Amino acid sequence: MEPIDLAQFEQLKATGDLPSPKGAALAIIRLTQRDDTSLADLAHAVKADPAFVGRLIKAANTVHAGARRPIASIQNALIVLGVPAVRSMALGFSLLSNFASGSCRNFDYPRFWSRSLAFAVALQALVKHTHAAPPDEAFSVGLLAHIGELALATIFPDDYSRVLAQRREPQAKSLLELEQTAFVMTHDALSAAMMLDWGMPRVFAEPVFHHERPESATFADDPRQHAMLWSLVLAGHVADICLAADAERRAMVPQLLRLGEQLSIAPETLNALCDQVAREWGEWGDILNVRTCAVPLFEDLSKPAPAPPPPGDMAAAGLDANRMRVLVVDDDASMRAILKAMLSGAGHDVYEAVDGRQAFELALEIQPQIMIVDWLMPTMDGIELTRSLRQTKVGRGVYILLLTGLEEDDKLVEAFEAGVDDFMSKPLKPRLLAARLRAGQRVIALQQEVERDREEIRHFAAELAVTNRRLQEVALTDALTGCPNRRYAMERLEQEWAACSRNKRPLTCMAIDIDFFKKINDGHGHDVGDAALKQIAVALKGGLRAQDVIARMGGDEFLVICPDTDLASAAICAERMRKAVESLHMAAGNQQLIGSVSIGLATRDDGMEDADAMIKCADRGLYLAKQRGRNRLATVQAHGATTA
Ligand code: GH3
Ligand code: MG
Repeated sequence: MEPIDLAQFEQLKATGDLPSPKGAALAIIRLTQRDDTSLADLAHAVKADPAFVGRLIKAANTVHAGARRPIASIQNALIVLGVPAVRSMALGFSLLSNFASGSCRNFDYPRFWSRSLAFAVALQALVKHTHAAPPDEAFSVGLLAHIGELALATIFPDDYSRVLAQRREPQAKSLLELEQTAFVMTHDALSAAMMLDWGMPRVFAEPVFHHERPESATFADDPRQHAMLWSLVLAGHVADICLAADAERRAMVPQLLRLGEQLSIAPETLNALCDQVAREWGEWGDILNVRTCAVPLFEDLSKPAPAPPPPGDMAAAGLDANRMRVLVVDDDASMRAILKAMLSGAGHDVYEAVDGRQAFELALEIQPQIMIVDWLMPTMDGIELTRSLRQTKVGRGVYILLLTGLEEDDKLVEAFEAGVDDFMSKPLKPRLLAARLRAGQRVIALQQEVERDREEIRHFAAELAVTNRRLQEVALTDALTGCPNRRYAMERLEQEWAACSRNKRPLTCMAIDIDFFKKINDGHGHDVGDAALKQIAVALKGGLRAQDVIARMGGDEFLVICPDTDLASAAICAERMRKAVESLHMAAGNQQLIGSVSIGLATRDDGMEDADAMIKCADRGLYLAKQRGRNRLATVQAHGATTA
């Protein structure tokens, strides 16, 4: 999959900012990567995330709709879904919960997940017809098919916000084009690279890469990938209809039917399938806390639409500097009540847990800044809880204040060694507690500063990566014509030479030189010469086929590389280019300028030692064309009767 530059991707990955799974999901994914994991181990890991259990069972029942008895146990759900599907689901759901919001201003996070979910459900329903993928895996492929957009929003929040604003301007370029300009990469390539990185198979990642510009796909001869590609295109369209305003939906139906036809799905079947998608989208939305909306029956879409539903509550809670998330952990309800009253009174958000185990799970979910933890509790005491938390990424940064009635030195040393930051003896003294919280806040503020610095460094690294790629591109591009330059041409030719030698495929090149170019310069000045050079380059490019490459070698010389092409086919292309230049209307003031090019052709043969020998041969052809009067093609190779 050429367009995905893995080196580029590795640079981004190295910033550490790419969206990635966390918590229980990460544990599940790791387990599924090991060969010796039993179903029981996996079930155990799944149980640690009660929300995931519910989603998994729902997924198993969706896949097995129509089974005699609904699937109710984790083990059965795992058996029905299989390890790869469970793995991708853990991944998708984890990203969904952890990236439900973010700091890219113009990125509509709720809408992103809403569309991804509709996409997932639609793809899952579609592959049951197209057999392009197992339905349960298709769900995750759909959920993650646009993950590259989220990644760009996460890594470059400000720049991506600007790109999204530009996208809304009248006559804006496509999102992919704007991304290419801003980041020298696009979200489709990033989505595919991330999927590959997460171990999802290439037969899914490649169609994902192409589905926004399906005409660019080159695997038409692989029926499975082809079916997957068009299933993705159709799923995307169904998702768009689900999210569209009622008034817009009707206009989208003809395209829906056309895409359905492409996959041989009859209109009635497609309508029923879309209705089912809209229903399941709503059900999944409730389970996952993702905004959805009611969609009218697809058959009825031509009737007047009801008013759009009110947008969901998307207001992000602003966090002010002194307000903190505090988790109070105590088995004694009266103590929790006292602490809650004090802390809420001071303006903090207070969460409660009754023992260490509950606190552990809650802490990973809500990520408190401070925890006030009772030492003695029936299940998992304060010290065990602290030790467990310190082993997790989230738990390492929490400020832990231990409440204790025990004050023996040995015990306190044990507590500090386990990782507590401070302790307080019972009974509680409000003034002391407030003072200790302030000390805690100072530490947290410092930590946040360090985190901000780190964030800045990461951001800087990501920007540097973009700059490097831009520089690399500039280093390989000719500034005047925008064509690749000599350096690029030579590297590319070496590659094509090696590939064609290996595969015993033909390779042809053309040396092109503008005729009497000096005259244009001398007669009209260098600027007119430059403008003519640009126009001629555009005309030459227009005559190329998709697989050919044109480069400016310097001065008024160009080189064209035609992979997989013999001399006769290249000559047809060369003649087209020659004519294109000949019929150019160039002007200097009110004077008409006439331009033409001479072209020498050479094709690889066994007598040639290397690519350089082929270029020299093309140069001899060019010389011959000039000698014979210019504005023509020529070759010095036998059987190549290509002079015009
Ligand atoms: P011929 O048909 O034999 O090729 O005649 P020619 O006049 O084109 O001769 P030649 O190819 O040797 O000369 C190329 C000229 O192109 C030399 C230089 O004045 C001009 N040239 C090279 N680079 C540039 C450029 O970047 N801009 C402009 N305006 N002229 C250039
Ligand atoms: Mg010339």
